[in-house]
Amino acid sequence: MTGKIIINQGREKAILRQHPWIFSGAIQRTEGNPSPGDIVSVFAQDGRFLARGYWNPKSQIQVRILTWQEEEIDETWWRRMIQRAIDARPVYNELQRHNGYNEGYRVINAENDFIPGLIVDRYNQTLVLQALTLHINQHKEFIAHTLANLFEQMGIPVDSVYERSDVDVRGKEGLKAATGVLWGEEPPLYTQMGSEKLTYLVDIRKGHKTGTYLDQKQNHAILEQLFAEVYGDQADTRVLNLFSYVGRFGLGGGKHIVNVDSSADALQLAKRSYELSEFLAEAVEFVEADVFNYLRELIARGEQYDVVILDPPKFAQNKQQVDKAAHGYKDINL
Ligand code: SAH
Repeated sequence: MTGKIIINQGREKAILRQHPWIFSGAIQRTEGNPSPGDIVSVFAQDGRFLARGYWNPKSQIQVRILTWQEEEIDETWWRRMIQRAIDARPVYNELQRHNGYNEGYRVINAENDFIPGLIVDRYNQTLVLQALTLHINQHKEFIAHTLANLFEQMGIPVDSVYERSDVDVRGKEGLKAATGVLWGEEPPLYTQMGSEKLTYLVDIRKGHKTGTYLDQKQNHAILEQLFAEVYGDQADTRVLNLFSYVGRFGLGGGKHIVNVDSSADALQLAKRSYELSEFLAEAVEFVEADVFNYLRELIARGEQYDVVILDPPKFAQNKQQVDKAAHGYKDINL
């Protein structure tokens, strides 16, 4: 018997529209003594079954819905839902199977794949898993094992499933950061991604997010294409890549490329990536600096660029920078 959650009068509408979260304010009472992380069934005041999901009384989002059907959340359910997410990315699976695809991609994107709290990214033979909620954290070894097993059945090998649950949002679920191998071998020190021509290195253990900024992948490709169309192989193109991280945007083209980031580690990795790439640039700079200050310097020197890439984080790294980011860039006299 699973625990029961009874919803306040009128609060079932969002659930019926398949919103996957139930906030504490929508809940009238809990029955059956569930433990934190357990599967619970959700009912309306009139006793109607609405959904089934997992429960965490510590979180503002007390229930995350896994299904709107009266079905068991068991091993079969998990295998089906993980397979569903894998199958939703047929192009990547095909490329990965033939070993021709090494750009990295997201295999499971939490609520978007109807598995709240679970992120899985693929970097070559390594899967990187983020468990954002208590229930997912409780089942992460099983999930890791199942993922490896399902991929292997498809002829797509997995060497390791590595956890990168070092994100602040876990605090809201009463969880601490956790990292390390969940299944299989230790991943390589650096994972070499990209194509034969353009290589970039991913640090699975310490890189940002699950290793790198996969969410910019399409934009990296768009820039590369735009660059080729507009500038081709023109001799004197100058590119300024601000908040460069490992310099991925800078691989898009240009003869003189300046990568600017405040992280020495990121720039170090960028340097090694550029060395490994068959890269046509004549001059590449890696500048460790605060972008806000460095821009002033560039203005003072009267530098000009053909392409400027500006990809700031939501919050820059210290209080002063956060304030500046919040006020836009108006104190920089461009
Ligand atoms: N453009 C990158 C992702 C950038 S992420 C890509 O496509 O892969 C944001 C980067 O900004 C991080 O590498 C972080 O180290 C850097 N950063 C944050 N605040 C900064 C600041 N004030 N000055 C310079 N770099 C900063």
